[in-house]
Amino acid sequence: MDANSDIKTTPRGYHCTLCNVNIPNQPSLEQHVKGRKHQTLSTVRSTRKTQEERSVFVSGLKPHISQTDLAEYFQQFGPVADVIMDKDKGVYAIVQFVEPDSIGSALSYDEHKMKGLKLRVKPRDKKEFKLIPKKKNDSQNLQQAFDRLKPELIQLTSVNAQMHYIMERFQLGENEKKARDLLIQLLQEVFVEFFPDSKVLPFGSSVNTFGIHSCDLDLFLDLENTKVFQAHAKSTTEQPGEGMSDDGRSEDSILSDIDLSTASPAEVLDLVAAILKRCVPSVHKVQAVSSARLPVVKFHHRELNLQGDITINNRLAVRNTRYLQLCSAVEDRLRPLVYTVRYWAKQKQLAGNPSGAGPLLNNYALTLLVIFYLQNCEPPVLHTVDQLRSMACEEEECKIEGWDCTFPSLPIAVPPSKNTQDLYLLLAGFFSFYAKFDFASSVISLRDGRALPITSFLSQSEEGEAMEVEPPQKQHQTGPKLGPLTILDPFELSHNVAGNLNERSQRSFQRECQEAEKYCRSLQYQSKSTKGKSWGLVRLFTPHGDVPHTKAEQLTISIPFKCETLPEGLRNELRTAGDAFRPLWFQRVCSAVEEVFQNVLRCHLVSSTEAVGGGEDMESSSASLHTSLNDSCDSVEPHSESSPPGTAAVGAKRTLSSGSDESPQGKKPRLAKRSRPACPHWVWEQKHTVWAGRRKVRRELIKETDSSSEGSCMELESQVTALIVEKEPELKETLEFKVQPQMVGATESTSTLLKFEPTHDRTGVFQDFFHFLEAFLPKMVETLLKRNEMGHV
Ligand code: ATP
Ligand code: MG
Repeated sequence: MDANSDIKTTPRGYHCTLCNVNIPNQPSLEQHVKGRKHQTLSTVRSTRKTQEERSVFVSGLKPHISQTDLAEYFQQFGPVADVIMDKDKGVYAIVQFVEPDSIGSALSYDEHKMKGLKLRVKPRDKKEFKLIPKKKNDSQNLQQAFDRLKPELIQLTSVNAQMHYIMERFQLGENEKKARDLLIQLLQEVFVEFFPDSKVLPFGSSVNTFGIHSCDLDLFLDLENTKVFQAHAKSTTEQPGEGMSDDGRSEDSILSDIDLSTASPAEVLDLVAAILKRCVPSVHKVQAVSSARLPVVKFHHRELNLQGDITINNRLAVRNTRYLQLCSAVEDRLRPLVYTVRYWAKQKQLAGNPSGAGPLLNNYALTLLVIFYLQNCEPPVLHTVDQLRSMACEEEECKIEGWDCTFPSLPIAVPPSKNTQDLYLLLAGFFSFYAKFDFASSVISLRDGRALPITSFLSQSEEGEAMEVEPPQKQHQTGPKLGPLTILDPFELSHNVAGNLNERSQRSFQRECQEAEKYCRSLQYQSKSTKGKSWGLVRLFTPHGDVPHTKAEQLTISIPFKCETLPEGLRNELRTAGDAFRPLWFQRVCSAVEEVFQNVLRCHLVSSTEAVGGGEDMESSSASLHTSLNDSCDSVEPHSESSPPGTAAVGAKRTLSSGSDESPQGKKPRLAKRSRPACPHWVWEQKHTVWAGRRKVRRELIKETDSSSEGSCMELESQVTALIVEKEPELKETLEFKVQPQMVGATESTSTLLKFEPTHDRTGVFQDFFHFLEAFLPKMVETLLKRNEMGHV
C-alpha cells in the first residue's frame, strides 16, 4: 500500500487511515506524509508484509519443542530467518523463511512430523495493518461513572434537586474529612519535633468546601515561627552557658543542619521530604519537586489512598482558601453551582486533565469563574472582593507578600444577597454569561467584580496604575501574564490564574458554554421526561466530543485579538484608544490581510468596496454567521463606555459606581475618532496554485540565499509565490473569490472574522486554497503587524 491509498479526502480536508489522523490542508498533508510517525508506520507495515509473505503458521507443538528444533526441521524447505513461538505455552509458532518461495515447499509437504509430533502447517493469516489506539482509560472511567449516575439523576424531579444531588454525591464525607484531619494532626506532631513552632495548615479542595472524594490534600508548612525560634536560639547560644531554648527544647536538632533564614526552598523541601520518608507511617512515593512554580513535596498515603502536596511558601493559597470558605458560608447556592459546573467541565474535558490532552482549566480557576459570574448577576449574588474588604474590621486587616487580603472572618459580617434566583436559572445564566463573554479583550477581576479592559494592561511600565492598586512590593510590579483567558487572582493581582490556558482550550470553553446555553433554553432542560429519557443535567453532562463546526463557519477564518503577541507600539496605541481599541486593531488587521493577498500571495484585486459601518451585504452576512451578533462593523461604536468590557451583551447588568473603565482621556489615534470603521470587501483573482508546494520552494530559496542576507519573512514568502507563478502552469480557469472581513467583540471574543466565498471556481481548487489560508493567513497577519511597526513598509 503506498502513501496515496492511505489518504482519503474528507469534507474538512484529508484523513490518513494509516495514522488515523485528520489533516486540514494540502501543505499539512505533505508535511504529515514526510513526517516521522507516518514514515515509521509505513516502514513497520512493509516489514510486516514482507514477513507475512515469507512465513508459515505451525501448530500442534508441545512445550518441550524449542525454537532451535523448529529452525532445524524447517531448514529442509529453505533457509530459515526466524522462529517466533507463543510465549506462554509453546503450542504454536511462526516460521519465517529467507526466501518467499520456501513457503510453497513447506505447505505442499504431505506430513510434518517432528519428535513424535504431527505438526499442522498453514499459510499465515494476512492481517490488515492497523494502528492500535491507546487505551483511553480516563475517559472510559468517566463514562462508566456517568452511566451509573444517569439513572439517579433522571428520576429526580427538578434541576435544583439534580444539582444538590451532584454536590452530595461527590462532596467529601464526614469520615473522609476526619481521616484527613487525623493525618494533618499526625504530620503536625512529626514536623513540630523537627521544626519547633511550625504549623501545618490545610488549603485547597480538602477544606475550601468544594472538595470531592478523590481530591488531593494540599498542605502549607508554615515555618515563620520556626525561623523566629531559630534566630532566638542562635542569639542565646552565642551567650556562653546557654544551650537550651526557653521551653527546654534542644537546639541540637535537625535545625542545627540548616539556617532557615538563608536556606533555599529546595533545601528546606529536601529536609521535609526526608522527614516524611523516615518518620510518617504509611507515607510513600515521596518526591520533592523544586522546579514547579511553587516548589512542593509530593507524597502518597497508602491507607487513605490519598495524594498529598506540601508547600512552604504558599500563604496566599491558604488565604484564598479562606476566601472561598467565606463565599460558601455567605451564599448557599454557591456550592451546588460549583459542583455542577465542575462536573460539566470534567465531562466536556475542559477542566482537570483526563487524557493528558493539553492545558485545561484547573478547579480553582473554574471556581473563580463561577464567583465572578455571581458577582455580575442582577442583583449580584456575591459581593466583590473590594466590597468585602470594606466590610472587615481593623483586626481583620491582612496583608500577604504586600497584597491586600482583607475580608471579614465571619459570614455574619456580610449582608445577604437580594438575588433570589433559583439554582437552575443561575446555572443557565452562567453559560449564557460566558457564551457571550469577550475573553480576548477583558481581564476578569473578582476584586472589582467586573471585567477590566485588557488594553489597560498592555503597557508594562504603567502596570501598577492599570491595576488600580497601590503597588505593593517591588517584585509585583510586572503585570499578569495576559492570555486568551485572563483571570486575576482576587489577592495576588499580578497573577493570571488561567495563565496556562491556550487559545484552543479557551475556545473550547466558550463553545461548550454556547452549546450549554442553547440547551438550557430547551424544554428538556427544565422539564422531567415522563418516559424516563435524559433531561436536565443528564443531557448537559453528556459528552459529545468536539462540537462540529457549523456550515457557516466552514469558510470563515478567525484572526483573534491576541494582545500578548502585538508589537509594543501598537499595544501603546491600543491602550491610548481605550474602549475604541477594537476598530483600530480591526483596521490594522484588514490592512495586513490586504497586504497578504496583494503582495505576498500576489492575487489580483478585481474590486474593492468599502462599507462604513457595514453595508447591507455585511449585515446579511453577519446575520448568517452569528445570529446573536450585534456588534459587527455597524455596532463597534464604543459600546463599552457605558458597560464593562466583556459583559456588554449579558443583558441586565448592575450599574457600577466606580467608573474607572471610562475611556482614558487624552489624544486618541486617528482611527478611533471614526465612529464606525471601514469594512473593506475584496474580490481577488488568482491564476496559479500559489498555495501548493510552498514548503519545498521555500526550502530551496533559503538554501540558495546566504542566510545572513536573508530578507524578511514577507519578502521570502512573496519570492516563494513569485517562483511558483513563474514555474507552475496557469490554472485552466482563473480562481475568483470574495473576502469580507468583519469585526466581532464585546459579545464574544474580539476577533476579525474573514468570510470567504468562491465566486468563480471551475477548477475546484478553492477548498485547497482555503485550507492553506486557514493556517497561513493568521500567522502572516501577525508577522505583518510586527513588521509594519518596524517601519519596513
Ligand atoms: P483539586 O485539588 O480538587 O483539583 P484544588 O482547589 O485543591 O482542587 P489545587 O490545584 O490542588 O486545586 O490547588 C490547591 C489550591 O492552591 C487552590 O485551592 C488555590 O488555593 C491554590 N491554587 C491553585 N491553582 C492556583 C493558581 N493557578 N493560582 C493561584 N492559586 C492557585
Ligand atoms: Mg487540591
